[in-house]
Amino acid sequence: MRCPYCGSLDDKVIESRTMANGESIRRRRECASCGYRFTSYEQIVEKPFMVVKRDERRQPFDRAKLEKGIARALEKRPVATSMIENIVNDIEDKALITGKANREISTAELGELVLERLYETDKVAYIRFASVYKHFENLDEFINEVNSLGKKNKKNVRKDPVGGQN
Ligand SMILES: [Zn+2]
Repeated sequence: MRCPYCGSLDDKVIESRTMANGESIRRRRECASCGYRFTSYEQIVEKPFMVVKRDERRQPFDRAKLEKGIARALEKRPVATSMIENIVNDIEDKALITGKANREISTAELGELVLERLYETDKVAYIRFASVYKHFENLDEFINEVNSLGKKNKKNVRKDPVGGQN
């Protein structure tokens, strides 16, 4: 970094200290030309992670909203509250990986991640979430979803002979 005293670009770091839970690093520097000591700060600059809605509008990813949706689907189901936290963490991780390139994910992709995770956890919660998320317009659509669930179930049984929670 340029020395604020003599303008030389030749400096060395003499001390680094992590601050604000690792969100910032403070560095003590010394100019190699004149010996002047100065301080620099390093911080993560990140584009917020966005969710692209069906109408192409973008909203910042809202973890609280995701958690609320999942908690609602799991209401009165035999799933521990701490499990909800884990589920949200898993989905958030997968969403960040899925949307890594553009730092955004579509609501459709996000919805699928939620459905996948709820399916593994609790079939009733899965159906609840699916019926809200997919806006079933008629009974046929709902029956199709339930049928596709049966197909997934067969796949799961093969992979995991112990079976799910239901
Ligand atoms: Zn200097």
